[in-house]
Amino acid sequence: VELVRRRFGGRSRGLVRGIGDDAAVFRTARPGELWVATTDMLVEKVDFRAGWLRPEDLGHKALAVNLSDVAAMGAVPRYALAALALPRSGAASWIARFYRGWTGLARRSGVALIGGDLSRSPGGIQVAVTVLGSSRSGIVYRSGGRPGDLLYVTGTLGCAAAGLHLLRRGRRRAVGGAARRALQAQARPEPRCEVGAWLARSGFARAMIDLSDGLSTDLARLCSASSVGAEVDIERLPLFREASGWGLDPVRLALDGGEDYELLVAVPAARAPRLERAYLRRFPPLTRIGRLVAGRGVSALTGSGPRRLPPRGFDHFFGGR
Ligand SMILES: [Mg+2]
Repeated sequence: VELVRRRFGGRSRGLVRGIGDDAAVFRTARPGELWVATTDMLVEKVDFRAGWLRPEDLGHKALAVNLSDVAAMGAVPRYALAALALPRSGAASWIARFYRGWTGLARRSGVALIGGDLSRSPGGIQVAVTVLGSSRSGIVYRSGGRPGDLLYVTGTLGCAAAGLHLLRRGRRRAVGGAARRALQAQARPEPRCEVGAWLARSGFARAMIDLSDGLSTDLARLCSASSVGAEVDIERLPLFREASGWGLDPVRLALDGGEDYELLVAVPAARAPRLERAYLRRFPPLTRIGRLVAGRGVSALTGSGPRRLPPRGFDHFFGGR
């Protein structure tokens, strides 16, 4: 704990006491400010394989998946806590490598590590991370969508799932090109913190969710929370087309692959042209992929007409990575 405190312990305005007492202390006295809290657990052999991710990658990814949830609320991440359970052998160097990967992303995102726990695991590695974030310009919920809203996604869909496929086939390294992008997306996802906060602050986002389990599953979640249906225009999806070279279907990967950690956002149709003009160049690409409709269920618009799109993304109790 002392090593983590000295080398990786966070500092920030508002933080009164970080790691080192029984609990962290921070100040939240701003009027109109709302806070969000989220936690996510990564369990070896369920959520990741130790042979496929280096400790640095796991440190990055454990933080990234939580930052992605904060981004999907339109909040700015501020504080993080991490609880690790590790097998005895090599624990000290493993912890230092984990936090080296963590720190790169934490610094860029302005997140201070303010606490956590260390324990020994009789089995595999377990990592539980909690992130707190704040917003002074409103929170964006999954439930805010209305029929007629246009749906947009950031980035490319299916890249991380293609990376998982490469890992399963024993491919751990790639110097460049599509394989490197896919492995990078799987090991070091880039949470869309800036975009999420911008979409909320600028008032374009009416409903938002991050894509952790695949578009088909996460869009169904947004629809169900908003009591609407949706139509997805398959031809507009920002696909990772290179995956077809590995015998994979880029459309299936985009719909059901998961772990993209991109944002899916519903925007009132009347505001969409302004969004497309105002969207900042330095952000990842933003693609319009469909719209919310009255009723229930998600359908896919294809060249041969609409068909139902069942949620087939990742499910912890009916699938495994
Ligand atoms: Mg989420």
